[in-house]
Amino acid sequence: MGFDLNSITRENVRDLKPYSSARDEYTDSGADMVFLDANENPFDNGLNRYPDPQQRILKQKLADIKGVPSSFILLGNGSDEVLDLIFRAFCEPHKDNVITAPPTYGMYKVLAGINAVENREVYLTNGFSLDVEAMLAAADKNSKIIFISSPNNPTANRFDDTAIRKLLENFDGLVVIDEAYIDFSTEGSWIRKLEDHPNLIVTQTFSKALGMAGIRLGVAYASQAIIDVLNKIKPPYNVNALTQLRAMEQLNNTDLNASQLGQILDERKKLMAALPGIPCIKQVFESDANFILARVDDAGKRYDELIAKGIVVRNRSTQPLCENTLRFTVGTPEENVTLIKALKEL
Ligand SMILES: *Cc1c(COP(=O)(O)O)cnc(C)c1O
Repeated sequence: MGFDLNSITRENVRDLKPYSSARDEYTDSGADMVFLDANENPFDNGLNRYPDPQQRILKQKLADIKGVPSSFILLGNGSDEVLDLIFRAFCEPHKDNVITAPPTYGMYKVLAGINAVENREVYLTNGFSLDVEAMLAAADKNSKIIFISSPNNPTANRFDDTAIRKLLENFDGLVVIDEAYIDFSTEGSWIRKLEDHPNLIVTQTFSKALGMAGIRLGVAYASQAIIDVLNKIKPPYNVNALTQLRAMEQLNNTDLNASQLGQILDERKKLMAALPGIPCIKQVFESDANFILARVDDAGKRYDELIAKGIVVRNRSTQPLCENTLRFTVGTPEENVTLIKALKEL
């Protein structure tokens, strides 16, 4: 019993030597060298060289911002790649299983399917809390990973720290806390608890608060031992040069980032105030994210009516516990006025 990284890592991954690329052996930063090692086109156009496979500059920047060593960081082509790498490093196809807590982010189930890994679903309680006892009871010796999203998509709430700590302390596999929406929450990140929990992986993304969904950049924070395993299996050049450059630029735009985050939080507050007074809206759930889940009288009908008015929202009604719910992303002030006006007309 107890968490043991070596024993939960797939045998083939444990035995693997990572591919060493030309740019791993020698970086082109700084030194005045002649690079004839990677069969690149020699004529400089700014992008003729392979990108840094270890993304050193970007990781150092994130390390400074988050207060962790850069050896605790893995970058991927969106959180989607990061999550897939976690599956592939630790879950043996047709043998191992993971535990998820629907209603939640759909990619955990998709990735389990792609990797031929059983997905054991333990629904949230009616109040959208983690059913910790049932999740732990669902685990057996082949349970490798628990995935939770906190704040959770689509319910928008953040899970109780005590519940998450109980999972971390009583589950012998990895606990992945997907913090895609953490910037919109009043509570801090689990990143500051990495030292206390050797089985914790925190994932974050550039796609939401940082406004960079288009560059595809996801991040995992975990112990160096876990990151070393993931580094063994990641494609060498999985984060392209344009993405690395644009991400650095965005991280340096601190004033813009803070002002956009502030506006989104203000707008969320306005929507939270306006939605409950609208006839077709029956219930509005608390939000720690940049979206709001609301129960309506007839989700299919209201969804279609909004489309007819040129507004696309997400119908989450097929998700467990989410009958007749719509999910509204917080838009610009103008977009939110348009949404409220349209909802009032229904
Ligand atoms: C939007 C979202 C992400 C982001 O995924 P990327 O691949 O990084 O764009 C991750 N997790 C959850 C729960 C999300 O809702």
